[in-house]
Amino acid sequence: MSKTMIKENYLEVLKKVNDAAIKSNRKQDDVTLIAVSKTKPIEALKEAYDAGARDFGENKVQEILEKYDKLPKDCRWHMIGHLQTNKVKYIIDKVCMIHSVDSLKLAEVISKEAVKNNITMPILIEVNVADEDTKFGVTTDELDDLVEKISELPGIEVRGLMTVAPYVDDPEENRQYFVILRQLSVDMTNKNPHNNYVTELSMGMTGDYEVAISEGSTLVRVGTGIFGERNYNI
Ligand SMILES: *Cc1c(COP(=O)(O)O)cnc(C)c1O
Repeated sequence: MSKTMIKENYLEVLKKVNDAAIKSNRKQDDVTLIAVSKTKPIEALKEAYDAGARDFGENKVQEILEKYDKLPKDCRWHMIGHLQTNKVKYIIDKVCMIHSVDSLKLAEVISKEAVKNNITMPILIEVNVADEDTKFGVTTDELDDLVEKISELPGIEVRGLMTVAPYVDDPEENRQYFVILRQLSVDMTNKNPHNNYVTELSMGMTGDYEVAISEGSTLVRVGTGIFGERNYNI
């Protein structure tokens, strides 16, 4: 893909994100577009940066470390992939949010490293709403207990929920899962007023972000729609 396409793609997706936010009676800044740059080279990220992108999503610790040093310091890095506990220490001072927390063990390590660094790390709990065997994330039944335990840890703050919906041809098929995730976050606040900062919903990818926004998404993670197809064999 030529450089110009990334800029055009980014601006086009951003416009669709903003239009979808307004259509669902929200302000355009209520929804953040995260450019998912995993597997893509630095030049591609710079092109998106020049078009205005500041939020980047990555799923590998090593890639975050390499890209962090090569892009301007006003970029915000979102860890959106499965995170191993022994790697938390490398990214704790580099990412603005970890979207993919799905165990107490991982939360405990994030807490410990955050305290060491004198910061509070905002996190999201990944929920496997469609209950797919292939996906990470807690089940809806496990959610309450995990949130309660994490809320007792220092240096870590549950800010919301995240889900990776199934790959489908018709994005409308995923609406049901976005509805469930939003309802889970409403239930969390109702059950425990301390959870009133649980306001972020990280849901929606290239194929379904407009549907996700219409159901309340606050963070959409778009890769292919901005950077083109990924090649995992290089
Ligand atoms: C790769 C990835 C995305 C982006 O997917 P696209 O379909 O390319 O937009 C979003 N979220 C997560 C967790 C991912 O791993």
